[in-house]
Parts: sequence; C-alpha cells; structure tokens
Amino acid sequence: MTDLDDWLADGDPGDADWMPHLLGLATRGQLGHTGRLLLDLPALSQRWSCVPGMCSPGMRTKRARSCCADLEVGVSPTEEERIREAWTEVEAHMADDPRWSRGAPEAFDDGTLTRPGRRCVFAKATPDGLQCGLHQLEDATGRARGALKPMPCRLFPLVIVEMDDGRFFITAIHRRTARLAGSRPAAAFPCLGATSQTLAAGCEDILTGLWGKRTARRIVKLAEEAAS
Ligand code: SF4
Repeated sequence: MTDLDDWLADGDPGDADWMPHLLGLATRGQLGHTGRLLLDLPALSQRWSCVPGMCSPGMRTKRARSCCADLEVGVSPTEEERIREAWTEVEAHMADDPRWSRGAPEAFDDGTLTRPGRRCVFAKATPDGLQCGLHQLEDATGRARGALKPMPCRLFPLVIVEMDDGRFFITAIHRRTARLAGSRPAAAFPCLGATSQTLAAGCEDILTGLWGKRTARRIVKLAEEAAS
C-alpha cells in the first residue's frame, strides 16, 4: 500500500461533488490525463512557489493567509501514530519554540493538528517566515519525506480526489476549486502566482513520490504546455 492509499483509506474523503467541475474542464478542453490520472490543467499550470516570507503572520499583507498558520490540517491515525512514536525527538526539536518551552502543548485534536498561538503546533517562527518542524526533523535525521510530515502538508496546494472508478483527479487550490476543496479562496495565498514556475513543476517531488518520475514528468509537461 502506498502512502497515498494509506492516507486515503484512513482519511475523511469529504463530501464535495467534483463532477460538475470535471465536466466543465472536459467541455473547455482543459481536462488532461495520463494513465489513471485526470488532470486539472488550469489549476496545475498556474504559477506557484512556497515563499513563507509572503504569507507568515507578521510578514504578510492584511488579507494573505498561510497553510501553516490558517488551515486546519487533518492527520490520519497512522500519521498521528508515527509522530507520537518519534515524540521524544519531536519535543527536543521544537524546544526552542516559545510555545513548547514550558512543556509540549497538546498536538492532536480529534484527527487534526492543534494551532496554539494561531499557527500549527509544529510551525516554527523564523526570520524567514514559518518553517515546518517535522520537515526539518525529517531532514536532520535522514528520514524520508512523509515519515513525519502529514500528507495534506506534503500535497499543499495540490488536491487529490479519488474517483468512484478508482482513478485519481489531480487538482489544486485555484479560484475555481478552493470552495470544493474546503480551502480559503485562492487569492488569499500569495504563493499562488509568486513565481514563473508552474504549480506542477513546483510539486514535482511529491508527484514523483506518489506516482514515479516518469508520470510526474508527464504531468509537468502537460501543465507547461497548458500554460504556454
Ligand atoms: S505539520 Fe508542518 S507543514 Fe503541516 S501545517 Fe504544521 S508546520 Fe505546516
């Protein structure tokens, strides 16, 4: 079972009806595909780059929002268990965060990460903006990406929808999808439009991790063609 299968099996699939959006894409010739994957080309070809200095509280414009400060992050039971198993290391790594200095705060609340001080319990405030403590700990200890960092954080701003026929629809936070994805509006995230690279190119690592290098390259190519 892959990380994605595991997360989908454990997680809450949501109740959004994506079919009208898919039909709209198909009608406009904007629905790409490769193998078992359907692609939202407008969402994947928009410009994106993670720039914490543009969205972190204290550094951002009034309307800007951040995935690590403002979104509720759901974790599967497996993900919660992995983090709890590494708790001694997590606690040591987070110790320089003022919210952790007098003991670890409660990190989980009914399948979501808590947000003490109005940011994710694992989000460290740095001069460059919020940085993920779990991501840093994975790198510092040679763990693979996803050993600790939850799937929604690895995916953001990608959104993966499992179809009834077993295929996957790959989309992302976009002005036409944010409501369906249960997100803040796309315009609230300054990372969208922050660079010249397509969102698919910026997310090539996670796409490679989930579907392999060849498929990831194909998705990036289709998004780049759609952008040109
Ligand atoms: S777990 Fe890490 S990436 Fe996810 S919201 Fe928290 S700080 Fe951000």
